[in-house]
Amino acid sequence: MAEPITLADDGSLVVPDEPIVPFIEGDGTGVDIWPAARAVLDAAAARHGHRVGWTEVLAGEKAYRETGEWLPTETVEAFRRYRVGIKGPLTTPVGGGIRSLNVALRQILDLYVCLRPVRWFRGVPSPVRHPERIDMVVFRENIEDVYAGFELAEGSAEAKKLLEYLADELGWELRSDSGIGLKPISITGSKRLQRAALDYAIARGRRSVTLVHKGNIMKFTEGAFKAWGYELVAEEYDGRAVGWDDCGGDSGERVLVKDVIADAFLQQILTRPDEYDVIATTNLNGDYISDALAAQVGGIGIAPGANVNGVTGHGVFEATHGTAPRYAGLDKVNPGSLILSGVLMFEHLGWHDAADDIVAALEATIAEGVVTYDFARLMDGATEVRTSEFAAAIVERL
Ligand code: NAP
Repeated sequence: MAEPITLADDGSLVVPDEPIVPFIEGDGTGVDIWPAARAVLDAAAARHGHRVGWTEVLAGEKAYRETGEWLPTETVEAFRRYRVGIKGPLTTPVGGGIRSLNVALRQILDLYVCLRPVRWFRGVPSPVRHPERIDMVVFRENIEDVYAGFELAEGSAEAKKLLEYLADELGWELRSDSGIGLKPISITGSKRLQRAALDYAIARGRRSVTLVHKGNIMKFTEGAFKAWGYELVAEEYDGRAVGWDDCGGDSGERVLVKDVIADAFLQQILTRPDEYDVIATTNLNGDYISDALAAQVGGIGIAPGANVNGVTGHGVFEATHGTAPRYAGLDKVNPGSLILSGVLMFEHLGWHDAADDIVAALEATIAEGVVTYDFARLMDGATEVRTSEFAAAIVERL
């Protein structure tokens, strides 16, 4: 019988034989990729004696049609109660009360880590010459920064009031026709994200953690993020990680912690990507970096994403692309992003055997040239298959 996942006293997840896992099918192509992903996940789990107790919850257009709400309270409560869930892409309601359902879920459940592993799969068409040199795991802070939602529209009474305050109290003369947004970056928010990246690097035997920031310009937000990262290493990671300045770049067995300015980083991931491993960065930088890296490995259609709170164990695993509405219901698009998000979910549950199987089977399928339209149009001699056929091909190779 399906049971909820709980949290042990030591903070680890207690995963029953058949955990209850809520899923959001997703809008647009969600109807195509969700059943495909589920078929692969179920088959891989079964091979190792696991079973997922899927339970559907509503969000997005389907929820709006059936309940009049874009993100019903029951959906948020299901994710809160059952801790771990997965979602297809959701339409961002234009002009509605919620800016983005994805951002709302992250904020409500305090999913402060956005985890994006980026690696190349043999056979995937890539715009760079050596995609195999890219193997990074991006930890993007998910709650703060300009995403926190503190924005005032140009001309609004609130913006005028804030402009007056800034002029009167701080002597900051901003243009009167400005829209204004705040960029909060806290010690708490930065260090918990950096801690997650460091713990991951140590647990997985990775070489380095790089703090990516724009601290040369934004000293008290981005620059502070960098400083707090090194402070954290000195405070909590003695013998396990070390800052570059404290070891001259020779960290021995310890994880090396270094930093780089965001624009230089975006150059270097093209010129010498093998110097980077685990990345810890602020929210907006992380947004750009994740997509730039995914593009380099040809993986926009298959890049997975996880939103996690490492303390409560909550995790929402999601396709990183959108709803691609013009392909909805055509059984055409690539389900790889949602399948690999499911792999991250299995890893979060400790089902590493099933997760590894899926990665190997997906890699074999692509390497044999069995791919959906998006890859087929870039590959010579590929066999183009439908969404459901691609999933079946992976299941066959498990
Ligand atoms: P999109 O849905 O990601 O689609 C843009 C293009 O990306 C598609 O036309 C297609 O390119 C390619 N693509 C997307 N998914 C694919 C897949 N599974 N397989 C292969 N190719 C795929 O972006 P959008 O059109 O800007 O956004 C549509 C809606 O999605 C909006 O409402 C947006 O807010 C929402 N959105 C949701 C999320 C999320 O839920 N995580 C993320 C982003 C956007 P080609 O046509 O060139 O083949």
